[in-house]
Formats: sequence, C-alpha cells, structure tokens
Amino acid sequence: MAKTIAEERIERLFTLAEKRIGHEDELADRYVELARKIGMKEEVSIPSDLKKKFCSNCYSYMKPGRTCEVRIKSDKSKVEYTCSKCGNIDRYGY
Ligand SMILES: [Zn+2]
Repeated sequence: MAKTIAEERIERLFTLAEKRIGHEDELADRYVELARKIGMKEEVSIPSDLKKKFCSNCYSYMKPGRTCEVRIKSDKSKVEYTCSKCGNIDRYGY
C-alpha cells in the first residue's frame, strides 16, 4: 500500500524528534504532538513501530536510556517501556 502524504509527514516528524532528543527534549515532544495532530486530523493511525516511540499516557518521546527505561520480559515475550516523565509503563509483544 502506498503511503499517504499524512503518513509521510508523521514519519518525518518522528525522524526529527529522534534527532532532537538528548539536547532539545521539549522539541522532540513537540514533534510527537504535531504527528498525533496530523494523525487525528487526517484520520491516519500512527504506525505501530512509531507508537512505541512515545508514551501512551503523556505522549513524550521515549528514548531508551534517556527518557524511558526498557526492560525485556523474556518469560512473557514482552518489552516494557517505563516513561521517566510520568512513570507510565507501556508493554509490547515482540
Ligand atoms: Zn509518560
């Protein structure tokens, strides 16, 4: 399936966020916010691989070792992302 313009814009915003994290964390969060707004406006869901990159509670960009902690639960085949901003835990299967 071809990507829509909205999807491309969302992907680009996440690429930009990735570049900002570490020195301009607030700007990274802003890019996530913009991506979510585009998604809502254009009725495009954010791809699941990108959804893992931000907190589902406070929507801040999650960078392992920096703005979140990653723990692998091998017994459950799940990865836990703990947001260091709000403490929310997102779990994803792998
Ligand atoms: Zn959070």
